Amino acid sequence: MEQPGVLAGPITQRSVVQNLLREVVLHLPLLFSNGANMNALYMDDSYLKEFEAKVESVTKGGENKFFIVLDKTAFYPDSGGQPYDTGKLTKGDVEYPVVYVGKFSGNISHEVSREGLKEGDVVKGVIDWERRYALMRMHTAAHLISEVFHRDSGAFITGNQLGLDKSRIDFSLEDFDREKMSEYFAKANEIVEKDLNVKTYFLPREEAIKIENITKLANVLPPNIKELRIVEIDGFDIQADGGTHVKSTKEIGKIEFIKAENKGKNNRRVYFKVV
Ligand SMILES: [Zn+2]
Repeated sequence: MEQPGVLAGPITQRSVVQNLLREVVLHLPLLFSNGANMNALYMDDSYLKEFEAKVESVTKGGENKFFIVLDKTAFYPDSGGQPYDTGKLTKGDVEYPVVYVGKFSGNISHEVSREGLKEGDVVKGVIDWERRYALMRMHTAAHLISEVFHRDSGAFITGNQLGLDKSRIDFSLEDFDREKMSEYFAKANEIVEKDLNVKTYFLPREEAIKIENITKLANVLPPNIKELRIVEIDGFDIQADGGTHVKSTKEIGKIEFIKAENKGKNNRRVYFKVV
């Protein structure tokens, strides 16, 4: 999902739209929000661990490999740098392990490793919460870190990949100064300690483009995107984002700066974890 070209050029003025733009570029495929055929429950409630849904289709992908589309789901599909959820679908006493979740042709598809589900079945979905919650903490931490880096150095994020043990963010940044980076991480931890609320909501496209710099945003937004999902860290950061987040910054815990790598001209890769 790295498209640094879109972000190239001097940035002289901060605005909501620039922030939106930053994550629109990274999360573009996610911002189709709750399109007619997705019904992604995690968009409205990141803390939903169990849900009931109806099987809309079953496709065999190989031995012990079946792709299930549900009429709604709380499973997060691999996208925008946030890894997929795992867990299970159950019908009666039978459990169908969910080993991968992806987005294909606008549908969220659950790969299960057991045969037996049929179209029309009503199933219960259960998310592997430990994994998901770790990724939520990582994701909100990544927003905090990006914003601190951006405020202090003007750096823009050009890529990111969250993980369970460690996550990374790529920045377009001239300086390669580990001491400064450590300072940025200390600042990010100060924000964590402030325990700011993290809110998610949808903003109609018309409202988003009323804000200054509309052409830039309009240029990267496909016309069929009618609304944007917004993730706002109260009084600190606002981004368009389709991922799952904790509801207050203190839930992140403590952010640890692992290391930084020099990936060539203006490209800095930063690794971190949350403990
Ligand atoms: Zn994000």
